[in-house]
Amino acid sequence: MLIERESSRRRTWLQLLASETEPTTGVRAAMASTFDSKYAEGRPGSRYHGGCEIVDELEVLAISRARDLFGADHVDVQPLSGSAANLAVHAAFAQPGDPVLALRLEHGGHQTHGSRANFSGRWFSPLHYEVRRDTELVDYDQVRELALVHRPRMLVAGATTYSRSFDYPLLREIADEAECILLVDAAHLAGHVAAGLLPSPVPHADVVTFSTNKVFRGPRGGVILARAEHADALRKAVHPFIQGGPSMHAIAAKAVAFHDAGTREFATYAGAAVRNAGDLADALTARGLRVVSGGTDTHLAVVDVEALGISGTEAQDRLNRSGIVVDKAVLPFDERPVAEGSGIRIGTPAATSRGLTPEMIPAVADAMLAAMTTDDLSTHDRIHREIRGFACG
Ligand SMILES: *Cc1c(COP(=O)(O)O)cnc(C)c1O
Repeated sequence: MLIERESSRRRTWLQLLASETEPTTGVRAAMASTFDSKYAEGRPGSRYHGGCEIVDELEVLAISRARDLFGADHVDVQPLSGSAANLAVHAAFAQPGDPVLALRLEHGGHQTHGSRANFSGRWFSPLHYEVRRDTELVDYDQVRELALVHRPRMLVAGATTYSRSFDYPLLREIADEAECILLVDAAHLAGHVAAGLLPSPVPHADVVTFSTNKVFRGPRGGVILARAEHADALRKAVHPFIQGGPSMHAIAAKAVAFHDAGTREFATYAGAAVRNAGDLADALTARGLRVVSGGTDTHLAVVDVEALGISGTEAQDRLNRSGIVVDKAVLPFDERPVAEGSGIRIGTPAATSRGLTPEMIPAVADAMLAAMTTDDLSTHDRIHREIRGFACG
């Protein structure tokens, strides 16, 4: 019953959550396969359990596909999530108390990049760079200054509420000057990299982590890519330091996704998601809203709703009542409390997978404005009925 209700919600609400997509039937089939019951603690060829011949082949296949796709020396497909991958990287390279430099959460960073509520901020000493006030782009001068003054163990690039790519050659240069490890958390960007839409961090970073369940369109799970010299430390950090047995069904589904991400069809989907996000950001701008950093290079955009006189939370609620699912967002230099925020984060991968086209964007933007500018429930109901025609079903 709850499963049916959730499938129906996904079909009848327009899904504009930046972190979600619609997995393919191949990924779903692998997730539902019998691999979910196989215990395979250890690594291919050296497991703690019997009967691992087939899962050994499976994990080797997943690794070799990821290696081909991203051109990385070391690949680990066992991390249970993107956050677990980041924990393992901290465990491999830093000791408790060591300084780690990353983008501030309120400026687009992630919990695992030094938030006090997370291991990264509790067990390590977080340092944060920000975006510039004028451009709302990462302030690389500040990154360099903080790196040279504080000599962090790791420099972390990557973000969750930031619509731009990063300057990887420049970050490499800074990491070399400060003699620290460069971790690129590509959770939101791995799909664009695989599709050739954005530059790859792999040649520049010591380590790249990502979640396979975002634009990448794989199962829930994480991946670590790294230079060969870091393989041993990273492998031990994942198992046995932070994890026991891997999710072999997720590894099967990752193998499917690594194959799919190399296809023309995937590049078309990722490109369409980026185009839809850019068009929607422009359409909202044309209707009087401000888009952070003036636009997007990716599948997501951060939109300031202050002009409407409502908070991010209110915008999220009004949109949700009108059949449109988004996240509230805290903006750089936001004056509202973090629990409310002054913005929303929109993203297009799920809706694009369900058939959202550029022709639908003006109507979606109109519906969003109409939903956010009223508190009237019957108007929200009417918008919800109208929105069902767009990328739903
Ligand atoms: C989503 C995200 C993660 C964490 O991913 P989970 O798989 O949900 O743990 C880590 N870093 C960034 C930048 C993200 O956007």
